[in-house]
Amino acid sequence: MGKTIIVGPRIWDASGSAPFDGEVLVEGNRIRAVSRVPGQIPQSGCQVIDGKGMTLMPGLVEGHAHLSFETVTATEDLIAPPPEEHTLLTARVAKTLLDHGFTSAYGASAAKLRLDVAVRNEIDAGRLQGPRIRAGSLEITVTGGMGDESRLHNLRSGPSLVVDGPEEMRKAVRLCCREGCDNIKLDVSGDPFYPNTPAHSTPMTLEEIRMAVETAHSFGRRVNAHARSIGSIQSCVRAGVDVLYHCEYVDEETLDMLEAAKERIFVAPTVSLFHTMLHEASPWVTPDTARAMGIDKLLEASTKTHTELRKRGIRHLIGGDYGFAWSKNGTNARDLGFFVQYFGYSPAEALRCATRNGGALMTLGSSEKLGEVREGHLADLLLVDGDPLADVSVLLDADRLALIMKDGQIHKNTSAATRRRAAA
Ligand SMILES: [Zn+2]
Repeated sequence: MGKTIIVGPRIWDASGSAPFDGEVLVEGNRIRAVSRVPGQIPQSGCQVIDGKGMTLMPGLVEGHAHLSFETVTATEDLIAPPPEEHTLLTARVAKTLLDHGFTSAYGASAAKLRLDVAVRNEIDAGRLQGPRIRAGSLEITVTGGMGDESRLHNLRSGPSLVVDGPEEMRKAVRLCCREGCDNIKLDVSGDPFYPNTPAHSTPMTLEEIRMAVETAHSFGRRVNAHARSIGSIQSCVRAGVDVLYHCEYVDEETLDMLEAAKERIFVAPTVSLFHTMLHEASPWVTPDTARAMGIDKLLEASTKTHTELRKRGIRHLIGGDYGFAWSKNGTNARDLGFFVQYFGYSPAEALRCATRNGGALMTLGSSEKLGEVREGHLADLLLVDGDPLADVSVLLDADRLALIMKDGQIHKNTSAATRRRAAA
């Protein structure tokens, strides 16, 4: 079993304690030892990586990954590509995430049923480079819900399965499970992209959600939900959904329900999409168009809700619906800055959302541990040329990621060159 020792870095372990100088031993795919006393771990038989002057931290976890989205500007970009090209695109995006320090990607949804599944399998077999993946399913929606692209005169399949009633839901979820998806995505609330089903509406029923959760859990899979409206959030919590996305509209009762479920659920606010649509999406979406879609109001509601949920100790995940032309995959670490800017997180607490919370989600239901620099945890590590606790944006610069290790395997190691540059 290969052994690697990283000597000399400042270690930020994501446990909640302050960073410290130390060294870390990785054996096989696990962290074997973390020492605060330099020189204590014997180096014989180890590959030694000099991390002096750098920060060692856990790999990042994208909690709302769309691996099959690459510079999307319209729903058509999800529907039109043939499966062959779309699979290659998905593999490219997966590698992009790993190159940018994301050693895990929790799939929110895929544009076609088996895109995440096929790429996950190739990565797990060691034939493609990419993060750990929990494969997202096609979105499951109801007639008229987000993702139903048909019109009476023009029936067409969107990037979704359209079901009505618990029985059709059961069949759709079983289909996704049979085809290998890890996470089932439900479109419970409406969305500003669908004028007939606005964000505050809730077209999917509690019975349909309950059936989806019961079926997915019976296969040992998870359920993620697109939930912007009060009704959708409440139904998801009642039905036992595992991961809630967006969650902008709340009242006191809804906040209390989320708080009461905080040991069980994860929440990803996906705030980046609002920020970029309002400020950076021209010419595809101008600020005027974004405001006409109500994006400014959604950002306002998101800021208020998630600041409150932060105070209540909700397990937030980073992941902002990256994959659009104006919020590309690879820039996902921008969410850390948005968590600080909009929700009042400290950099360290935002980083814990990206590591500790994400790791807990990735290993949910298994005995594995992920997301901290701690003995026994899976060895997903970054060596950063800089101090992310002082400035989270250093993580956006892939050149400053001197070491990217996933599952004990070195994906990238430029630590020697980084040390030489620092010395010069
Ligand atoms: Zn999404």
